[in-house]
Amino acid sequence: MSDPMNVLAPEHRRLRIGDAWRDAAGGATFAVEDPATGTTIAEVADAGVVDGLAALDAASKAMAEWAATPPRKRSELLTATYRALTERSEEVARLITLEMGKPLAEARGEVAYGAEFFRWFAEEAVRVEGRYNTAPAGGYRILTVPKPVGPCVFVTPWNFPLAMGARKIAPALAAGCTTITKPAAQTPLTMLLLARIMEEVGVPPGVVNVVTTKRAGEVVSALLADRRTRKLSFTGSTEVGRVLLRQAADNVLRTSMELGGNAALIVCADADLDVALDGAMVAKMRNIGESCIAANRIYVEEPVLEEFTTRFAKRMGALSVGHGLDDGVDVGALIDEASVTKIDELVTDAVDRGARVLVGGERPDGPGHFYPPTVLVDVPEDAPILEEEIFGPVAPIISFTSDDEVMAKANDTEHGLVGYVFTRDLQRALRFTEGLETGMVGINRGLISDPSAPFGGVKQSGIGKEGSHEGILEYLDVTYAAIDLP
Ligand code: NAP
Repeated sequence: MSDPMNVLAPEHRRLRIGDAWRDAAGGATFAVEDPATGTTIAEVADAGVVDGLAALDAASKAMAEWAATPPRKRSELLTATYRALTERSEEVARLITLEMGKPLAEARGEVAYGAEFFRWFAEEAVRVEGRYNTAPAGGYRILTVPKPVGPCVFVTPWNFPLAMGARKIAPALAAGCTTITKPAAQTPLTMLLLARIMEEVGVPPGVVNVVTTKRAGEVVSALLADRRTRKLSFTGSTEVGRVLLRQAADNVLRTSMELGGNAALIVCADADLDVALDGAMVAKMRNIGESCIAANRIYVEEPVLEEFTTRFAKRMGALSVGHGLDDGVDVGALIDEASVTKIDELVTDAVDRGARVLVGGERPDGPGHFYPPTVLVDVPEDAPILEEEIFGPVAPIISFTSDDEVMAKANDTEHGLVGYVFTRDLQRALRFTEGLETGMVGINRGLISDPSAPFGGVKQSGIGKEGSHEGILEYLDVTYAAIDLP
């Protein structure tokens, strides 16, 4: 197979600003690594504040014309992006795997998922509507006019290098907004490739700008401090999200915040255990566990604890670990050494507190950032592994005996992104859906992400929704006109 880097020519490993692909003002670059080998795969431009502001100039200049572009035309450009991503799925997927580490089959899944946001919002672009009605007291009419919020700044994480950007860029463009995306420093290549594809399909210059940088703090602060920026959408950790919310407050920016999670997955004794096992495997192991919606804590009702645990451990132990581009690999490399160290510390700490390792638990030697699929049982309530985002292939299993008890434990966290429930009892499922303090619930399903559904958290997992009809509303302001008409 050819080198996955061939898909992105050296001239496109630079900043995408307006109609240009250009170096950073000072000529600085930084290296991107293959996390499975630790080798450098590319150098990309390391933007400074001046470059970030140049991207904002471009986005601001393009704003009026893009907002005035007929919705049907904007829709067609989004459809063309969907088609191009779908046709070029294999090359995009290989680049994702190379820079991020996930197995190729998962990267293909991410391309399909990311592309689908363009298709969904192509369809939404032509369905933006206002209202016209008589004021209740009579005498005048109420007209609402939706308008694009203006130039948007996007900051995205490394775990879904395409999809986390796609689910911001697609609705923004559909609504008539221009964009500047700052991808994670560890995975900038996929976003540059997306910008190149969007250039090729004819998206006008200045509508999609991409600024790669190792100096996220400086560059993003400058963008948020500039009054031309009208919206921030961030996906990443709750910790960084809090910092950005404070900065966004100065200019009273519209914000969408997709932050961290600590999902509980609850297996009730009446569940179909085959379904629960499949669901738990997906909810835990999709994306190597490096997902905000990963099952972080698996609660199993006492009567089925032993059977579930034995069968789950067997499936976890059968997964093969290796380079994501190699055939037959289920579990690729984690993003970096810090991530492996953090996971190793959480597991060691849990074991020190009395947890037992059923599978995995040993950090391997050798190059690349690997950690094996691991199952822990008898995990004590106070172990940090039940409170922190594990962000890796480790599954702590805890038993429970009543719904009230497990609901209280599931909700005992600052996060509120998603919960999963496995039961054949409809009323029980609905009680959990109503009682879980989360923005999303998977019922007898471990996979909930869908561009046509509103994705987002409550509590400290975030503000706002991505995908679905709600997704485009995040990019629209509403002007209300009072029209005198006795
Ligand atoms: P992160 O450290 O918060 O980084 C996310 C992005 O923020 C990166 O582009 C990063 O740039 C940038 N950043 C870091 N510090 C910044 C600062 N001071 N000012 C401006 N930007 C800054 O998160 P991550 O480790 O990449 O991603 C994992 C986290 O994302 C997890 O907590 C996960 O739950 C969350 N996540 C949430 C969702 C959701 O939809 N709720 C989806 C996916 C991931 P650098 O790369 O240069 O540091």
